[in-house]
Amino acid sequence: MAQLKFDNSYSRLPDRFFSRVAPTPVSNPSLIRLNRELAEELGLDPDWLCSEAGVAFLAGNSIPPGATPIAAAYAGHQFGNFVPQLGDGRAILLGEVVGRGGQRRDIQLKGSGPTPFSRRGDGRAALGPVLREYLVSETMAALGIPTTRALAAVSTGDAVFRESVLPGAIITRVASSHIRVGTFQYFAQRSDHEALRRLADYVIERHYPQAGEAERPYHALLAAVIERQADLIANWLLVGFVHGVMNTDNMSVAGETIDYGPCAFLDVYDAGTVFSSIDQHGRYAYGNQPRIAHWNLTRLAETLLPLLSEDETAAVAEAESILAAFAPRFEASYQGGLLRKLGLSTKREGDEALTSDLLRAMAENGADFTLTFRRLCDVSAPSADREPIRSLFIDPTVFDRWADRWFQRLQEEPQDSTLRQAAMRAVNPAYIPRNHLVEEMIEAAVERKDYKPFEELLQVLSRPYEEQPGRERYSDAPERSGIPYRTFC
Ligand code: AMP
Ligand code: MG
Ligand code: MG
Repeated sequence: MAQLKFDNSYSRLPDRFFSRVAPTPVSNPSLIRLNRELAEELGLDPDWLCSEAGVAFLAGNSIPPGATPIAAAYAGHQFGNFVPQLGDGRAILLGEVVGRGGQRRDIQLKGSGPTPFSRRGDGRAALGPVLREYLVSETMAALGIPTTRALAAVSTGDAVFRESVLPGAIITRVASSHIRVGTFQYFAQRSDHEALRRLADYVIERHYPQAGEAERPYHALLAAVIERQADLIANWLLVGFVHGVMNTDNMSVAGETIDYGPCAFLDVYDAGTVFSSIDQHGRYAYGNQPRIAHWNLTRLAETLLPLLSEDETAAVAEAESILAAFAPRFEASYQGGLLRKLGLSTKREGDEALTSDLLRAMAENGADFTLTFRRLCDVSAPSADREPIRSLFIDPTVFDRWADRWFQRLQEEPQDSTLRQAAMRAVNPAYIPRNHLVEEMIEAAVERKDYKPFEELLQVLSRPYEEQPGRERYSDAPERSGIPYRTFC
C-alpha cells in the first residue's frame, strides 16, 4: 500500500484512553470528493487515494499497514449536563501522519461504524451532514480560521435510518488532534490523576511545547488553551459563524473549530440567532458563544486543579486568575478584528462606540452581516455609490448617519484609500456558505446524486475574500422569508 506512513502517538498512551476498534466495512464505497491539495500537504499521494485501494481505505473497508484504529474515550457537558462517558461513537482514529510542514495530524474516519462508545447510535453518518461538514470546514480554512479539515467524502452505498431513510457517507477528518475539554473531564471524573497528568503532558508536547519550557507547565498550558479559544471565538463572531453545539466534548484543546453539526452562518445580523433545532433555549446562540467558551474553559480548569497545586484552595485561586485572562483576550481579539473590518488601522477613542453602533443599526434594520461589511469596502472611498449598502438597511438614513461618522473617522487614518480597501477586502469575505445554498446543495446530492452544486460551492468558497465576477448568486443574501433557518444534526 502506497504513501501512508503512520506514527500513532495517541495509541501509545495507556489503554484506558481509547478502545481498539476497526471500522465496519460498507457495501459500495464511491469517492465523492478528494481534497488533493490537503492530501499533498499531508504527504499523501492523491492519485493513490483516488484509486480503488485508496477509496477502500477512505471508506474503512481496508486498514492500511501502520494504522492503529481506535475510538477515543471522552466525557462532556452536553447543553450543560454532564455525561461521564461519551467517546467516539461514530468516528475512528486511524492514526497520525506528519505532513510536509512537520506538523503531526490525526486522520479520522467519521461515520465508519459502531464502537464501544456508540450507545444506541448506529455509528454512521448521513450524506447531508457529511457534505455540510466538508464544505463548512474547508470554508473556515479558506477564511483563515483554525479548523479541522476535510480530506475526503465517500458515499457508502448503505442506507442510514434517521427520521427518514438517507444515503450514508463517511468523511475523512484531519485535525491537529481530537483531544477535547471532554477528554480531560473523562479522567477528572474518575479521579484518575495519573491519566490526567499523562494527557496534559501529551497535549503540551504536541500542541504547546512552549508551555513545557515554562516554570509551571500546567499553568502555562491552561493559559495557552484559553488564549487560543478566545481568539477562535472572536474569529467566529467576526465572520458570523454559529457553531451550534458547543458542548465541552466539541471543544478542541488545540484551538481548532471542531465537530460541524448544526452550524451555520448569519444572514441578517442578530446576536440572538440560533439555528440548531435542538438548542431550544438559545444556549449556543451567536452572541452567547464567548460566554459559553468561558464556561467550557472553566470546566477544563477544574479538571486541571490537581496538577496546578497540591493545595486545593491555592489551585482554585490560581485557576481563577488564569481564567480571568479570557475576557480581556477575547475583547482585544474581537475589537481588533472589528476595527480591521471597518478599515481602521489605528485605534482612537470612540472606535468601540462606532463599531457597536454599526452592529446595533444592522440588528435594528435587518441588515445582512456579510454584505454590509463587504459593501463597506466598496464605499470606503467617499465618491463611491452608497446605494448598494444603504439598501441593506430597512431605514437607509440610519446607515447614512452612521457612515458620516465613519467617513470622518477615516480622515484620521494614515492609510490611503486604495490600500485601505484592499485591507478591508482581506478581512470581510464576499462569500460564506449561505444557508439557502447549502440546503440546495444537500438536496441535489441526496435526492438526485447531483454533486455539481457541492463542487461549485466548494470552488467559490475556496477563495472567499476574492471578488468573483458572475457569481453574485453565491454572495447574495436570501429573500426574506420570515421563516427562521433551522439545522437538524
Ligand atoms: P455530537 O453531538 O456530534 O458531538 O455527538 C455526541 C456524542 O454522540 C458523541 O459521543 C458521538 O460519538 C455520539 N454520536 C453521535 N451520532 C452518533 C451515531 N450516529 N452513532 C453513534 N454515536 C453517535
Ligand atoms: Mg462531538
Ligand atoms: Mg457531531
